[in-house]
Amino acid sequence: MCEHQPRCPPAGAPDRDAARVVTAHPEQGWSLLCNGVVVFDDDGEILPDGRIVDSPRTLQFVVCTA
Ligand SMILES: [Zn+2]
Repeated sequence: MCEHQPRCPPAGAPDRDAARVVTAHPEQGWSLLCNGVVVFDDDGEILPDGRIVDSPRTLQFVVCTA
């Protein structure tokens, strides 16, 4: 899927956000990275396998209010 050199991090990598943006929709608040990850403006993500990754800010909020 990725034809960049060097290769972008795969969707399962901790630094997956470092992949290139292939489709940006700032008006809708999301971008598609070339590893298949969809990144939202609030740092939330949807992985290619459908898993949803909450934004760090959301997790922090949950921890703070728990
Ligand atoms: Zn790439």
